[in-house]
Formats: sequence, structure tokens, C-alpha cells
Amino acid sequence: MTTPFKAMQAALDIVHSSPHPKNKIAASVFSESEGFLVSHTNHWPTTIALYIGMDTKIGNSSGTIHAETACLTDISKPTEGASLCVTDPFCPNCAKNIAEAGIKNIYIDERGFKKDFFKRRSGHFESMSMQIAERAGINVYALNMETESTIPILEVPEDYVPTEDSPIEYQELPQASEAAFTSAIEAAEKKHKRRKFAIALVEDMNGKTQALTARAHAVIGYTMQKPDEAIEVMRPIDKYSFIQEPINRLIMHLSRKGHTLIDGFLYCSQVPTSREQVNIIGADIHRITIGNTQRCRDPHGLRAMKQLSDARVLNYS
Ligand SMILES: [Zn+2]
Repeated sequence: MTTPFKAMQAALDIVHSSPHPKNKIAASVFSESEGFLVSHTNHWPTTIALYIGMDTKIGNSSGTIHAETACLTDISKPTEGASLCVTDPFCPNCAKNIAEAGIKNIYIDERGFKKDFFKRRSGHFESMSMQIAERAGINVYALNMETESTIPILEVPEDYVPTEDSPIEYQELPQASEAAFTSAIEAAEKKHKRRKFAIALVEDMNGKTQALTARAHAVIGYTMQKPDEAIEVMRPIDKYSFIQEPINRLIMHLSRKGHTLIDGFLYCSQVPTSREQVNIIGADIHRITIGNTQRCRDPHGLRAMKQLSDARVLNYS
């Protein structure tokens, strides 16, 4: 049986192999019922390391994939209800991904709270990462690996159901084709007007072809329908925000449900943010279709597109 201690040990076993010069972090995602245990360190995707380099920012994003996110995009079975172990307290961006991937329990090595690295960043952990976990209904524990004891940090009531204003939309298709892709894009354009959205054609666990559409939205558990909360959610804290961009939502939703992206059928109505583009590469996706190549949330995303396109790390059409 995989216990949180075994899964944490699997992460600790590889943490020193992280290519990051300072902050070496590792994570494991495991599920007893689905029968998987996957571990990764934080790292640079091979194509970014080779063709762009580890010292260059992609737009305004680092070229690294965090350990937690790397695990979540490397599991072919559904991650919904699974557990995650991590050597260090998780950042807000990973918190959003973990929430969207449907993770139920997070275990943090207690020693991670004592590192200088964490002491410098503990503000974001309390004000964002833990808030995101709580709203999404994720239990959080610290693990003491020496005494094999579990210290609860956050326990969510069993019957808690997070709010979801803007769930991912599904449309079943007879098959994946350029024509079906184009008509899914046209339908979403009509519905979402000039709002940013993304579409992925996937094969689900039953072998059916589905068109999935996601809009940029507050992370699961936050509502945009109450004005006070929407204002709170829209306000970024330093480089982080409570908004989950549509490509990130789709990538994590694919993990949640065990869907497989059908090669070549990923669309975004505008240029994704720098972080979304790095995550696309981290998820081993090589091609994306963009609606409006002049439009982006910020100029960094446009710069990231030029870097990744020039280096032929990602194909844009
Ligand atoms: Zn992170």
C-alpha cells in the first residue's frame, strides 16, 4: 500500500537531482484506488533547457515547471481524489493547479517550513496557497518523517462542495477533425464573445471524442458572482492572482479526468500568458492554434510567443 510517508520518501529520494541551483523541490502524486505513484523534481523542460537556456526568462515567467505541476501533467489516470506530497510548502500557482486537478489531500514535509526559502515566501503560503486549498476543499497536513506522524494544518468537512461558477464545457463529437475543431471554435466565439477562452479536443476514458471549452476564471471555490468577492479575487498579490487562465485550467482538467489531448487540437482565443505557454511545453504539447495573435493579457505573453516560436520549441498556427 502507498502511504503518504512512502510517497513523500519517493520525492525525498529524488529531490537532490533537481537541476535548480538553489531551490530543489520534489513532489509525488499518488492514488491507492487508481494505482499510481508519480514523482518529479522542479525542472526545465528539455526543449527549453536545450534551445532557450536555463538563465533566460520566457516572457516574464521562469522556464521551470514546479514539481507539483510536473507530477500532475504526467499521469494518464484520473487525478481526481488523489493525494500529493511535496518537500516544501506549495506556491499559489501550484495551489491553483492542484485544485483544478481535483487533488483531495496535500502532505508537506514538516522540514520544508523551516527552510530559509520558505521563510522568505511564507506570506504567499498563508494569504494565497492555503486560502486556495481551503476554498477548493483540500485537506493539508504536515508530515514528520522521523516520527512518522501526521500533523493536520487544514481539514475540510467531508460534505463540503466548492462553488464552481464556470465549469469546463463539454461537447461530444463524432470524431476529431479540422472541421469539428473549427466549428467548436466558432460556437465558443459566439458564446464567449471577446472573452479569453481555450478549447481542447480530447479522448476521454471511454474512448469518446469531446471538445472541452474553458474560460479564464477564479480558481475552483471562488465565485465571481458576488461583487465583493469578485473584486477581492481580481486583485493580484505580487506576481500571483486567484484567476486561473484557460489553458492552465484545461491542462489540469485533462489530468483530473484522465483525458488525452488529441495532438494538434489545442486552441486559445488570444495569446496565452507566459506561464501558460511554459506549462504547455511542460505538459509535452507541441502545437497550439491562436485566434488573435496580437492580443494578450500582457506584453510578456507576446514576447514569450516570439521566443518559443523562434526557438521552435512550440508551433503556433
Ligand atoms: Zn509551485
